[in-house]
Amino acid sequence: MNKRYPISWLAAALPLTLVVGCAEAPDEAPTREIVQITGDLYRAQDNSHFTVFLLTPEGIILADPLNADYAAWLRDELAARYDVPVRYVLFSHHHWDHASGARIFDDTATLIGHENYPTALAEGRETFPVQVTLTDNDGDNRLDREEAFGDVLAAFDELDTNDDDYLSGAEILADVDQPEVLYADRMSVSLGGKRVELVHPGPNHSTDATVLYFPDERTIYGVDFLNVKRLAYGFPGTGTLDEWIASLKQIEALDFDIVSPGHSSTGTKADFVAYRQFFEDLRDVVDAALASGQSLDDLLASDALSEYSDLANYEPQRNRNITHAYNLRAAGRL
Ligand SMILES: [Zn+2]
Repeated sequence: MNKRYPISWLAAALPLTLVVGCAEAPDEAPTREIVQITGDLYRAQDNSHFTVFLLTPEGIILADPLNADYAAWLRDELAARYDVPVRYVLFSHHHWDHASGARIFDDTATLIGHENYPTALAEGRETFPVQVTLTDNDGDNRLDREEAFGDVLAAFDELDTNDDDYLSGAEILADVDQPEVLYADRMSVSLGGKRVELVHPGPNHSTDATVLYFPDERTIYGVDFLNVKRLAYGFPGTGTLDEWIASLKQIEALDFDIVSPGHSSTGTKADFVAYRQFFEDLRDVVDAALASGQSLDDLLASDALSEYSDLANYEPQRNRNITHAYNLRAAGRL
């Protein structure tokens, strides 16, 4: 029987993996599920990472593959639910924890990324993915277990393919594939009567960011520089504070209602505006501190930005964001 759509969206939204307990605990099944965002647009989860896909009568437009193990799981899930292939993989950026595993879809899909992606990937393999560069405390261009943190630490043994107890940039980025099609500022992908826009918001967390804009679904998907209801872990990456604000304002100009970020919960446009406002307030308190000669320690000890304390990750990201912004702007990197 030729079922091109799910029997019902409700069936499609049912998680096939039983969600039990804390995802960080060892030897537990990862939290993986697929839920409908709106219409034929779905959000797919792997623990703390999220991607999206758009179902059309002629195939599936998938955003990030996340990682090789998840991509294999997702391929099987999609094959079980729908009888159309994945026709596109659209990379949010080249970082290992979002872009790995795309080759699983390569027999049916075209892989698309921003034109800065290949250079950023090559540089990451030479040194490090930018998000872990700052933790190479001894500066030896490789991470040991004491320097690794978060997702990198959790995947340490898996990533350490030569078993030398160090992670190189080449090891961390080993499963990241090159896009087959590159674009500069904006690109439209149409399939089966549906459409998604790839929008490059300029430099921010990485140099090669892509935001996906689904105009009919009035939804945006963005990763690491783009969050709602929480403070970012990814600031500043390769960007500056002014570049982050410019990126967020460019995305804010799109006509959308729903935000589906690469991490944490979904939100509304108002949540997005509040998230952008945090960075403008961050800029203002840091600039005022620098102008008055206030030290970083005194600024951190003040109640600056405490109006955002109800956002997730306020601790420790309020202090980290202030520290990065203060040091960048004190060095003239606005
Ligand atoms: Zn990233």
